[in-house]
Amino acid sequence: MDELGTPSRRLPPQLTAEERRENLRKAQQARTERAEVKNLISQNLISIFDAINDPRDSIQRMKVLDLLESIPGVGPARAELVMEKKKISFSRRIAGLGPHQLRSLYKEAGIMKVDPRRGSLIVMSGPGGVGKSTITQFLKSDPRFWVSISATTREPRSNERDGVDYFFVTENKFDQMVSKNEFLEWAQFAGARYGTPRTPVDEWRDLGKHVLLEIEIEGARQIRASDPSAMLIFIAPPSWEELQARLAGRGTDSPERRAARLALAEEEMAAAGEFDHTIVNDQVEGVVSRMVSLATAEGERPI
Ligand code: ADP
Ligand code: 5GP
Repeated sequence: MDELGTPSRRLPPQLTAEERRENLRKAQQARTERAEVKNLISQNLISIFDAINDPRDSIQRMKVLDLLESIPGVGPARAELVMEKKKISFSRRIAGLGPHQLRSLYKEAGIMKVDPRRGSLIVMSGPGGVGKSTITQFLKSDPRFWVSISATTREPRSNERDGVDYFFVTENKFDQMVSKNEFLEWAQFAGARYGTPRTPVDEWRDLGKHVLLEIEIEGARQIRASDPSAMLIFIAPPSWEELQARLAGRGTDSPERRAARLALAEEEMAAAGEFDHTIVNDQVEGVVSRMVSLATAEGERPI
């Protein structure tokens, strides 16, 4: 829209011949990948669970209807019937499936050959400024993972949204949640309280997703005590100097607050030995792929 509110006319982007060839090649590759997945399902070599958790973009963009059709003995008519019954739109793609839709699809008797694999519980901690949020952002876009949303009593920062970054709650509401045992763990940190709501963690693990908690060390200790199968990962900086540089580079804290954070970081670093794995965050992509392989190895265990 321009300033007068009339829709502005956008010209289609001018692609070079090379870019057009590249786009065609990518589209062809996506079609091949989708055909391969459908073929594997039709031969019962993989289940729709495997396809739903396939991180490739081409598969995440596949229509749920196409996926169901490829199940042996289902076909287009029955697939449409299932979609109607489950109130899932025919145009829905895998990446757009919500938890209720996933659950009801998995429950559909007779058509699903889903391995009963429960997702693992991964706890990630480490000193402030080490790169935990950056790593979490990567894992949020991986369909094998679900990142828990904590409740907190602290004030939202200007770029944060309620229900997305945190559930921002009052002290009273937090007290109620504690007394109703609604938290898997909770702790006090820097003058506010933070807690992990229990129900969604259980639900997403039942749906086979690896659940990631990005929490401070006291909370990690509580998880260790209540669920010994949880995997605790400590993220460490390449060096102390690098941690200082990252905190300064982020530019969200005053010098006093940065000094306080560094003092706290020293205590946090001392807890690394209590974790199952320590990963040095030198390259974010490397950390993410290590976390994926640790989580998926854990998830293979049958329940
Ligand atoms: P945390 O969530 O642990 O407090 P952030 O994810 O906010 O840390 O990262 C702190 C700063 O460090 C950010 O500016 C981020 O872009 C940067 N950062 C994160 N990981 C790396 C990395 N591997 N190399 C360089 N800078 C990084
Ligand atoms: P921030 O206020 O900077 O978002 O988070 C402060 C600290 O609280 C971080 O170390 C973060 O990992 C931790 N935290 C966030 N959510 C939870 C939670 O649900 N439980 C616990 N124990 N810590 C949390």
